[in-house]
Amino acid sequence: MPAQAFQVFPIENSDNTWRDEVFEFLNEKIDQIVEETAMEKIDDITGAIFQNKSEILGQLVLGLIKKNYNHLLNQEYCECPICGRRLKAWNKKVKRTIESLGGCLDLYRPYFYCKNCNHGFYPLDEALGLASSPKQHDIQDLEAWLSTELPFETAAEAFKRCTGDPLSADHMFETTNHIANHFDILDICPTKDEIEQKVNELSKGRFRRPVMMMAIDGAHAPTRPEPSPWKGKRGKGEWKEAKGFRLYLIDTDRIIHLISWHQIQDEKEFAEGLLKIRSARLIPENKVRLCRIGDGVPWIWNKPLEIFPTAREVLDYYHCSEHIHAVANVQYGKRNRKAQEWVEGTFTRLFHNNVDDVIRGLRIMEPVSSEAEEKITDVIRYLSKNRNRVDYGSAKRAGYHLGSGAIESANKFIGHVRLKRSGAWWYVTNANNILKLRCAKYNGTYDRIIHKYIEMNRENIYAKSSQANNS
Ligand SMILES: [Zn+2]
Repeated sequence: MPAQAFQVFPIENSDNTWRDEVFEFLNEKIDQIVEETAMEKIDDITGAIFQNKSEILGQLVLGLIKKNYNHLLNQEYCECPICGRRLKAWNKKVKRTIESLGGCLDLYRPYFYCKNCNHGFYPLDEALGLASSPKQHDIQDLEAWLSTELPFETAAEAFKRCTGDPLSADHMFETTNHIANHFDILDICPTKDEIEQKVNELSKGRFRRPVMMMAIDGAHAPTRPEPSPWKGKRGKGEWKEAKGFRLYLIDTDRIIHLISWHQIQDEKEFAEGLLKIRSARLIPENKVRLCRIGDGVPWIWNKPLEIFPTAREVLDYYHCSEHIHAVANVQYGKRNRKAQEWVEGTFTRLFHNNVDDVIRGLRIMEPVSSEAEEKITDVIRYLSKNRNRVDYGSAKRAGYHLGSGAIESANKFIGHVRLKRSGAWWYVTNANNILKLRCAKYNGTYDRIIHKYIEMNRENIYAKSSQANNS
């Protein structure tokens, strides 16, 4: 196999015809604009330019392609990248349209086909790293970026208003899902080194290891079943839980965000995500004091405990407080002084790590009604199950968070603002794709995954040639 099937690097074209062609086009365009536009107000002038922007910039791009890739634009012979056979270009150059934020143009370039390998290719496309669709990667990037903020229709509208170029909501939708499909939890997370650097910075000059909180919570998202291939009917909407976690460091009076990950998933899939985090050693367990926080739901505690057994655990204070108040209300009456005193006493005991006293007290309480009896039994069970997670006094002194507000706000700004729109019922796959990209934005990895997507996409399109190049 040939080491290099064709020259993919730019070669300076000493012939300056390309430049003359650009100026010639510009001259004609200016005449046309002057003739067709009433140039009174600034809006008329800028509007005329904006309308022709894609074409003008496109011709400039074409000129520079001619300058650098004249050899590929006019290539007559080429070796097959697979078998090395010498091939002659087709008689006619083949047209393709290129749309990018930096202009639109038609490119006519030579096509080669090897009958031996049943392989057809355009050396210039590969040299330029063109996307397979007319819309180039910069447009795809913007489509995904807008679509993770706005409903697809509005995103398409925003795109048109900002760029002057039309784009359909369907295209926005397809592109966003296509990009997100390439990625999983570890792509969305910062690297081990990036996390360690933040931990190290926070550790400087401190006596104790910094606190790293792992807040876990679920939030409901509107979904509908994906249609089965044999019956195309739209399924009925249902609310499903997006399970997520947020990992952050606590600085004195602020939090340093590290990772958010939310997906509509079951307990097993949630645990698999955490396992990947552990396998990639993203949490430097020997350098931080890890603490898990969440409400009383079992999935928050069971698997995560197996995966990170050394983490301290805190039951969300507000969640616990709701349960305690519920008992007080039914037993002593709402806003009653006795109720208030009992609640305060109970929390004082919890802050002094006397949860057993609280449970004992509840056991000897004489329920005033069957409702009170039920609530008391509930809270006894709840506190017994979370016995090791309610030592609020010591957790507070050690600098841990007692409330899971950080994950609740992540639920809002990552999930709700985009998924909970009136009339929106999501297929789970599509909702999860949006969540992935939104998490990437908050984790600071969005640009990185887009870059990775572009690389993967190019490798995919030009696989045959690059395989030959590498051999
Ligand atoms: Zn061949």
